[in-house]
Amino acid sequence: MSRINLKPAATLREPAELVAHGLAALADLPDLEKVAARYAVAVTPDIAALIDPGDPEDPIARQFIPSAEELVAQPGENADPIGDHAHSPVAGIVHRYPDRVLFKLVHVCAVYCRFCFRREMVGPGKATALSPDAYNGALDYIRARSEIWEVILTGGDPLMLSPRRLGEIMADLAAIDHVRIIRIHTRVPVADPARISAEMVAALRIEGAATWVALHANHARELTGSARGACAAMIDAGIPMVSQSVLLRGVNDNVAALEALMRAFVECRIKPYYLHHGDLAPGTAHLRTTLEHGQQLMRDLRGRVSGLCQPDYVLDIPGGYGKAPVGPSYLSQASSLPGEGELDPETRYRVVDYCGDVHLYPPKP
Ligand code: SF4
Repeated sequence: MSRINLKPAATLREPAELVAHGLAALADLPDLEKVAARYAVAVTPDIAALIDPGDPEDPIARQFIPSAEELVAQPGENADPIGDHAHSPVAGIVHRYPDRVLFKLVHVCAVYCRFCFRREMVGPGKATALSPDAYNGALDYIRARSEIWEVILTGGDPLMLSPRRLGEIMADLAAIDHVRIIRIHTRVPVADPARISAEMVAALRIEGAATWVALHANHARELTGSARGACAAMIDAGIPMVSQSVLLRGVNDNVAALEALMRAFVECRIKPYYLHHGDLAPGTAHLRTTLEHGQQLMRDLRGRVSGLCQPDYVLDIPGGYGKAPVGPSYLSQASSLPGEGELDPETRYRVVDYCGDVHLYPPKP
């Protein structure tokens, strides 16, 4: 079925608006109202225009259109799946690793992703933006710790702030001698590319610290011409970009979709950085894959694209223990290999090539 471009004039926030624009079925409205009462809904005009209403499996719709499956929480799912609270010494700060902190400035986003790991914390009616006192307290915390080299602005989406406010925050952070890197995690360049104005780009560049931008996108179709233009404006201004994606069932859990996404990032001069395994956020089981499937996809990806296109496949360990790369591994100690007899485990390894063939290292003399 051909795609219907029905770009609405404004962001859709109510299930009834989704129905009116053909993005949800009328019969689902009562369930979607229940979902929306619990988790924020927002679909920007740019994202709405990407959805094919005739495709029940549309990978963009799966990310942003609410579903009754979100009402079902599975055992092990948790309102704070990666343990932000356990590592929050003052309001707005998450200090999990010694040399870097998360600085959560706002709790709103341009769009609300149905798999969001902070879905219990973001959106209207959840936490509010930091008060001036809390903001100053967070800055004091960073100032007092010389080991903090990198500050990661996240939320919510920091690019929902005005260029003026963002510029003030960047200046406050860059004035701290030991803060050398300011990294901004955002979905705005794909969800609302027009926000990346010349003023916004100017606000992101600051003397005294290097700005990096991490773009969150999960399907190649999100990288429209407008989104690519927004990213190019930042990169051309000297702001390097990396990607982060979430492995999502029905969105990018096949190697062709992952390959297209990673190639699109690299074409945009965005280095693939993280492919996250889906977090145990409540009501998101229908969007998660298994770790085994994720590892197989990473093996398949390595067979098809260059190292430039390879992200790290990572799991945020529940409870706040940080990220772990979860493979696959291509190296193991070998005690024996068919046809090779007994080997010395101290000196011989099995190493798997990109085709899946096994070799010994060092090779047999
Ligand atoms: S943009 Fe990020 S913080 Fe906002 S809903 Fe999506 S995943 Fe969550």
